[in-house]
Amino acid sequence: MIDLRSDTVTKPSPQMREAIAKANVGDDVYGEDPTVNELEQKVAKMFGKEAALFTPTGSLANQLCIRTLVKPGEELLTETASHIARAELGAAAVFSGITTRTWPSERGVVKADQPLAIAHPDAGPYLVSTTAIAIENTHNFGGGSVQQISEIKKLRAATNEMKIAMHLDGARIWNAHVATKVSLTDYAENFDTISVCLSKGLGAPAGSLMISTAERVASARIWRKRYGAGLRQVGLLAAAGIYALDNNLKFLQKDHERAKQIAVSVSKVAPKVINPDYVETNIVALDLNSTSLTAGKLSEQLKAEGILAGALGPKFLRLVTHMDLTDDQISKAIEILPKLIQRALVS
Ligand SMILES: *Cc1c(COP(=O)(O)O)cnc(C)c1O
Repeated sequence: MIDLRSDTVTKPSPQMREAIAKANVGDDVYGEDPTVNELEQKVAKMFGKEAALFTPTGSLANQLCIRTLVKPGEELLTETASHIARAELGAAAVFSGITTRTWPSERGVVKADQPLAIAHPDAGPYLVSTTAIAIENTHNFGGGSVQQISEIKKLRAATNEMKIAMHLDGARIWNAHVATKVSLTDYAENFDTISVCLSKGLGAPAGSLMISTAERVASARIWRKRYGAGLRQVGLLAAAGIYALDNNLKFLQKDHERAKQIAVSVSKVAPKVINPDYVETNIVALDLNSTSLTAGKLSEQLKAEGILAGALGPKFLRLVTHMDLTDDQISKAIEILPKLIQRALVS
C-alpha cells in the first residue's frame, strides 16, 4: 500500500530503533530521565526559549500551552479549520473552560487583520475577553499552507499593544522553516507558547513538546501530571525525537517536492481540483467540487489501486507525503490519481 493519508504513518527506521535501544533512561516524573532532559533543553534552545516539556501528543502540548495563557471563561481566537478548533474534540472547553471564537480564511492562511477584527481584550462584565490568539503553521486542513512571517509580526505587534498572548501550533513548523528558510527562532520570538510534533514529518513514533518560559513550563508540568500524562522511562521516545531532529529534517524538502509533483500531475488534467502554487509543503488538498466524485468514493477507487488517501470532507481529499515513501510509489500515485479524477470531471 502507498500510504498518503498522513505523515504520521512513518515507522521508526533501523537507525532510530538503535538510538531508542541505546537510550539512557530514568524516571521522568522525578525529572530524572537524562534523555528527556536533553531533548527538552535541545528543543528550547532551537526555538530560543527558556524551557520545553515533552508530551505524548501534539494535542496535549497545544492544550498545556493555551491553558497557561487563557483563564476559564476567557477567549482564545483561532482559525475556523485549525487543529485546535476542529481536531482536539473540544479539549480547551472541557479541560480549561476556555471559550473559542474562530475567523474563516482561505486555505488557513492568516491575514493579521482577520483575528484583530474580532479580538476584544478587557471586554468588561458583559462580553467575553480575548486573551490569546493561536496560529497554525503550517496549516494542516488548509493544505500545508505556510504563514507569512510579515503577517505574524504584524499580529504580534498589535497583540503586544492589546496585551493579548500568541500561541503557535507548530506541529509542522519544521515544514514551514524548510519551505521559507525563516529560522525557528525568528518564528518563535513572536509567540508566548509553541507546540511542536516529532511524530509528523520527522518520523518519530510519538512525542511532542510545549515550549515557553521556565515559569509556564513549570506550570504545564504540573498540569501534564494532573491529566495523567506523567510518563516514566520515556527517554526511549525522547531518544527517537533527538534522532529525528538530528537526522530527518533534511528529508522534508523532498517531501515538499513530491507533494508538488502530485499536485502538478492532477492540475494538468483538472486545474480546478488543485492549484500547485498552493502546495508549499507536504500536503496536497484536493477540492473535488468540479468532479462527480466524493472524497469517500475517490479514496475507495484509490485504495483498489493500492493507494491510501484521507477523505476529510465530502469533497475534500488530503494526500500527505512523508519519508517512508519511495520514488516508485510517487510515480505510481502520479500515474493513477490524475486518471481517476479526469474520468470524473463534470464540466
Ligand atoms: C497533528 C497535529 C497536532 C497534534 O496532533 P496529535 O495527534 O495530538 O499529536 C496539532 N496540530 C496540528 C496542526 C496537527 O497537524
